[in-house]
Amino acid sequence: MPATTNVYLDELDAFTYQQRLSANGGVVLIPAGAIEQHGPHLPLNVDALLSRRMAGATAEQMDGLVASPITYGYKSQQRSGGGNHLPGTTSLDGAIVTAIARSLTAEFARHGARKLAFINGHFENYQFLYEGVDLALRQLRAEGVENLKVVLLSYWDFVDDITINELYPNGFTGWDLEHGGVLETSLMLHLYPQMVNMDRVEDIAPAQLPNYDVLPVRPELTPASGCLSSAADATADKGEILLKRASTGMASALQKELRNDQR
Ligand code: ZN
Ligand code: MN
Repeated sequence: MPATTNVYLDELDAFTYQQRLSANGGVVLIPAGAIEQHGPHLPLNVDALLSRRMAGATAEQMDGLVASPITYGYKSQQRSGGGNHLPGTTSLDGAIVTAIARSLTAEFARHGARKLAFINGHFENYQFLYEGVDLALRQLRAEGVENLKVVLLSYWDFVDDITINELYPNGFTGWDLEHGGVLETSLMLHLYPQMVNMDRVEDIAPAQLPNYDVLPVRPELTPASGCLSSAADATADKGEILLKRASTGMASALQKELRNDQR
């Protein structure tokens, strides 16, 4: 598709949006992020920025439209985001994330969208988004809307093993510990280099967290930096590869689930 085509629907006028939505078969991608501390070297809005750009790169490959991101997310967990006790992290209760996902599903259905995808960029959001979509579909079916299909995914699940081996030659600690680490920092270096301060990266060993949760949190379990692994090996080139590979993988999954769907 031509490079001039803007996939971000909130930057279009309402009439152009309506036209594009009917021309593309009603495909809308909804990014889901968070406002959460990401250590001393990254801003609070990493998850919101990256989910939006991941959705954008995906939409460009499949003629999709990208909705405004869900900016806030569910509470940061100590084992995947450092914890909700940390300053800067600003979270929603689970029922609210569920309600937002439910409302947005119903709103885009009202616009005529029939193929939605939530592009998640914050580990902790997932089940609440799922619940919101499920409740929305139940309601819409009761109202006679039978043909709405929704895909739910987290973008890091589309970084394949070949890419992991290539980008983490010293070993990969898992996506839960990739908080403010190589993945997010590399993507930010590629997409928003002016927002990254590599001088402030704390080159720490991967966090050692128990395989259970404690409430209230024991703050000493989270490394002082707020990151769960080191971003010292992050580069803009890695970010470019990650964006390309993950978006290509997401586009092909969405093509398969949404585009080839004969209804
Ligand atoms: Zn993050
Ligand atoms: Mn997060």
